[in-house]
Amino acid sequence: MAADIRTVSAREKGSLRITGIGAIVTWNSGSGSMEILRDRDILIGADKILGIGRFEDKDAELSFDAGGRILTAGLIDPHTHPVFAETREQEFEMRIRGLSYLEIAAAGGGIRNSVRKLRQMSEDELFERSLKRVRRFVDYGSTTIEAKSGYGLSVEDELKSLRVIRRLNEELELDLVPTFMGAHEIPDEYRDQRDAYVDLVCSEMIPAVAEQGLAEYCDVFAEPSVFLRDETEKIFRAAQDRGLKLRVHADEFESIGVTELAVSMGASSADHLLAVTDSGIEALKRGSTTATLLPGTAFFLGHSHYAPARRLWDEGISVALASDFNPGSSMTQNLQLIMTLACTQMKLTPMEALQAVTVNAARALDRSHLIGSVEPGMQADLLLWDVDDIRQIAYWYGMNHVYAVFKKGKLIHRA
Ligand SMILES: [Zn+2]
Repeated sequence: MAADIRTVSAREKGSLRITGIGAIVTWNSGSGSMEILRDRDILIGADKILGIGRFEDKDAELSFDAGGRILTAGLIDPHTHPVFAETREQEFEMRIRGLSYLEIAAAGGGIRNSVRKLRQMSEDELFERSLKRVRRFVDYGSTTIEAKSGYGLSVEDELKSLRVIRRLNEELELDLVPTFMGAHEIPDEYRDQRDAYVDLVCSEMIPAVAEQGLAEYCDVFAEPSVFLRDETEKIFRAAQDRGLKLRVHADEFESIGVTELAVSMGASSADHLLAVTDSGIEALKRGSTTATLLPGTAFFLGHSHYAPARRLWDEGISVALASDFNPGSSMTQNLQLIMTLACTQMKLTPMEALQAVTVNAARALDRSHLIGSVEPGMQADLLLWDVDDIRQIAYWYGMNHVYAVFKKGKLIHRA
């Protein structure tokens, strides 16, 4: 067992000891499964977990009494669009009155609406507005989020969005993993010359993003009404040539074989997958790409169809869950609610849903060696939950059960 009792020498005196933990619920990389540990403390040294076991006062400089609460790894949200200028509640109401997401997009709403607003806003204003929103992820237990650009869609405005993500990462305790998503939509001025826009993404945006070190990943919205399979492949090749890793919006409305493409190119994650085909599932089984599912989006758009999470899970594919936080199709930052939707609409168990927003989400961001489980050597990103049973996080729904958030060994939020 990796999360075993470990003694600590005086040389390794901890900075913090968490005692009085009701249960630790975590992935165990030794056994390859989730487990529940009782009667253990956690010893933290600087930003890492030093040990899990029984420790005394003298083993650490400070102690924190968990009061019998349940402890897990910090939640990880591997798919968000948090840098935008304005919310879009008017489109929310249009959908309630009967227009579809794609109809609103075709009429110039949707992503293109957000693009027009973001282009008019200064970088400082965009930063201030995004900051107010993004810091709330921590209140709901997220300690790392992926963050995409994609409401700029010009060289200048995509770089502006990514610089805002970098500033948010510097300003907040929350870690943001930056993704360039210039291929989120075709902007207004390129509607009749999509090839020229794909060229702009490949030969100007990607080189500039890579040279300035502004993103770790490149993402494409692959869909018949947005970017086609060959366009996606071209953008992916340009991104890989410049050292960016890949993730993709695939099979959300209609499959065009992009899940298969993403797996064959070694993408870290294929996201949405409501319309994933048998051949897409076969590809995911053979490859190492995580399937990141976003049930909040189907819920918020009022759809009754969800991604086939149960089947993907039972086929042995690594399934993660994310909020897809964005002003058009999923306006939530609460992964606890996403866990509930995964349970009720996609038939994952509460424990599987927890695994999907911790260790599997870490895998979707290529960080499972660092975050996503409570084991010695891992970063001390930890949550204490005000629940009696771990299943209550998903069961007692629409609530915020987070009691305390530790990031890199430091208490950064308390209810
Ligand atoms: Zn998205």
